[in-house]
Amino acid sequence: MTQMEEAKKGNITPEMEKICEKERISTKEIITKVAEGKIVIPKNINRNTEACGIGEGLSTKINANIGSSSKIENIKLETHKAKLCMEYGADALMDLSTGPDLELFRKQIMETVNIPIGTVPIYEAGVITLNKGNEIIDMEEDDIFKTIEKQAKEGVDFMTLHCGITQDLVKKLKNAKREMGIVSRGGTFLASWILHNEKENPLYENYDYLLELAKEYDITLSLGDGLRPGCLSDASDVPQIQELVTLGTLVKRAQEASVQSMVEGPGHVPLNQIKSNMEIQKTLCYGAPFYVLGPIVTDLAPGYDHITSAIGGAIAASSGADFLCYVTPAEHLGLPELDDVKEGIIASKIAAQAGDVALGLDTAWEKEKMMSKARRNFDWDQQFDIAFDSSKPRKYRDKCKLDDNEMCTMCGEYCSVKIAKDDF
Ligand code: SF4
Repeated sequence: MTQMEEAKKGNITPEMEKICEKERISTKEIITKVAEGKIVIPKNINRNTEACGIGEGLSTKINANIGSSSKIENIKLETHKAKLCMEYGADALMDLSTGPDLELFRKQIMETVNIPIGTVPIYEAGVITLNKGNEIIDMEEDDIFKTIEKQAKEGVDFMTLHCGITQDLVKKLKNAKREMGIVSRGGTFLASWILHNEKENPLYENYDYLLELAKEYDITLSLGDGLRPGCLSDASDVPQIQELVTLGTLVKRAQEASVQSMVEGPGHVPLNQIKSNMEIQKTLCYGAPFYVLGPIVTDLAPGYDHITSAIGGAIAASSGADFLCYVTPAEHLGLPELDDVKEGIIASKIAAQAGDVALGLDTAWEKEKMMSKARRNFDWDQQFDIAFDSSKPRKYRDKCKLDDNEMCTMCGEYCSVKIAKDDF
């Protein structure tokens, strides 16, 4: 049975119990929200995954993307990245490999970590097509569904599936006059396929079959936003919202079939549009968890997009987003290296925490209070232990080389914390 089926029957699963403990919510709350589709627990029945709840009333979770590309395929590096993601507190990991050996990569990564693993199966279907000497537009429908089933059997916990790009939407997109067209890789595969074959999106047309597969293995559907904006000018435009409307109808069908689902969102969004984007998604998609990719709030900072996305991520998290996909400094430029992965995770953790603090989550506030106490007490070790990254602040502190523990080189003997400590 899926987590949702159990919840609908009023049963609590071991995963729900663990989430209640971690997040300090009642069993009644988790059962109700999983049953309503407002919380998802990505966990394939074939995998021993750490319980991770994503959705309303829970702390904001973060996802890190790793995986090979057709240009760089280094299994040792990707495994190292997977370990780093665990070390710095990623809640989930997506393997976005598109190299020829992607199956091997996926298996290796799944053995390395015990957090939920997500994939985009259309990538593997695309690689299978290319390996046959064909082009993406020649992709066989059967290969798409066989890939989904194979990955489900292997234990993939959640899958990005671009079910909302319909033939009608692809036709309309041609007149939308977007600055950046389509920037989603999976979205592009499907839109080109639809256009050239003059057929409906197989994932949309055979959605009931997809639900059957997802239900069998309790795969959480991550309904992909194939038409997400790729620049600020395209944000919140008609194609983006039209796709979201379709995704809302698909969420409803998944919820009725007791299949867990969440919805992916933009992308590149001006700061003032983020809150309304979150509200529209929650309304149109029946309260399903929202998984946002950024959002990046200015396009002028290549090399620093972990910062542009953390700004957007914080606003998104405080306005209802439940799951943030990290962005690394290498975004738009190349495959991230180890340091980029670390920077991306830390930036995303900052955004998630900022959002949770704004929402008033006790678990988030407790950490903030612990940090201020450690600062007031000049307990440097505790400050570094609480910090998302303990090594960077420790390096700065070590550089101070002071005999007096109760100050740093910023203000020296004029340290306000030290002077005011006993009086205020
Ligand atoms: S010296 Fe200044 S910056 Fe350093 S701990 Fe004291 S108040 Fe803070």
